Amino acid sequence: MGKQITITVDGKQIAAQDGQTILSVAQSAGVRIPTLCYHRDLTPTGNCRICVVEVEKQRFLQAACVFPVADGMVIHTASERVRKSRGRTLELMLANHPQDCLVCDASSGSCELQDLAYEYQVTVPEWGSKGKRYIVDSDPNPFVRVDFNKCILCRRCVLACAEIQGRHVWNVAYRGFDEKIVAGPGVTMLEARCESCGQCAAYCPTGALSDSMSHAVARAHQVKKVMTTCTYCGVGCQYDLNVKDGRVVQVTSNPDAPVNGMALCVKGRYGYDFIHHPDRLTQPKVRRYLLEGSARPRDRGEWVDVDWDTALNIAAAKLRSARDTYGPDSVGVLTSAKCLNEENYLMNKFSRQVIGTNNIDHCARL
Ligand code: SF4
Ligand code: SF4
Repeated sequence: MGKQITITVDGKQIAAQDGQTILSVAQSAGVRIPTLCYHRDLTPTGNCRICVVEVEKQRFLQAACVFPVADGMVIHTASERVRKSRGRTLELMLANHPQDCLVCDASSGSCELQDLAYEYQVTVPEWGSKGKRYIVDSDPNPFVRVDFNKCILCRRCVLACAEIQGRHVWNVAYRGFDEKIVAGPGVTMLEARCESCGQCAAYCPTGALSDSMSHAVARAHQVKKVMTTCTYCGVGCQYDLNVKDGRVVQVTSNPDAPVNGMALCVKGRYGYDFIHHPDRLTQPKVRRYLLEGSARPRDRGEWVDVDWDTALNIAAAKLRSARDTYGPDSVGVLTSAKCLNEENYLMNKFSRQVIGTNNIDHCARL
């Protein structure tokens, strides 16, 4: 913990700790400084220059996300000079951007660059680059949609993949106007050891990296976000189901999720298409011969929809018959990491005390 100091931000005296950045002090005091390359989960780099502020006695504007406070420092976060600089920086970003930026929907209307362009009333300049420099949807990854025409080289994807996921897929290659994000040494994402977690898309502030499955499906204001807990394993990650017209159209990270923050694995982020799949089982089925109590046909016969009591009674009778005829160890019980602790406890009791076998395992190692 650094020593207690006092700084002045926009005319207000604020207590701070020596060593804090201007941005962190401002945020904790409720003063908004716009950011693009900065994300609270990632190492600050100060490269986009959107968070610049005026620090008295400093010749140049300083990036608030990396500049440390000092006792007595006087800071202006929204002076004429600061706003002009941010506007100019945005203009330079948009100059190297597709002409449709201000109506672009690649990130479902939740693009941080677009929001700032509206806030600072900056449009794509006439003198900017025309046309697309890169192939749209350029990577064969089935889950992450890549359109580097919309990239602002903020490097959040590079840091998210390295610091959150530990895969180091993305890098920055070339210099100057040719600078761009590449996977590995310029190969596809999967060739560069990508495991399709989607962290890079979740942290990308523009539509350069986005989720393929939800591309152009719904705009941000059309969906209702429902926070839920993932059922794929026992970690208990939380995220937001994005629901439109009663259907789940996307999973997005919820930065306030206590266990996982923004991080999700490929199953949690992209394994939601089973929810409305026509092949999804929504009620129990049994083979017709079991229902009729007749002999088992060679092909085991057709499936018939039944209610839960009927299905459970047939399963119980079959388990009892196997135990009584061949002994308790002829039965094995496989539980699931998707079950609650209490449910797994009950399965343990069922296996050892009802059936009388220690043949019980779970699927958490899958
Ligand atoms: S999907 Fe995950 S592993 Fe693949 S590049 Fe993005 S962050 Fe890295
Ligand atoms: S792809 Fe997105 S996150 Fe990565 S550098 Fe470009 S704008 Fe930033």
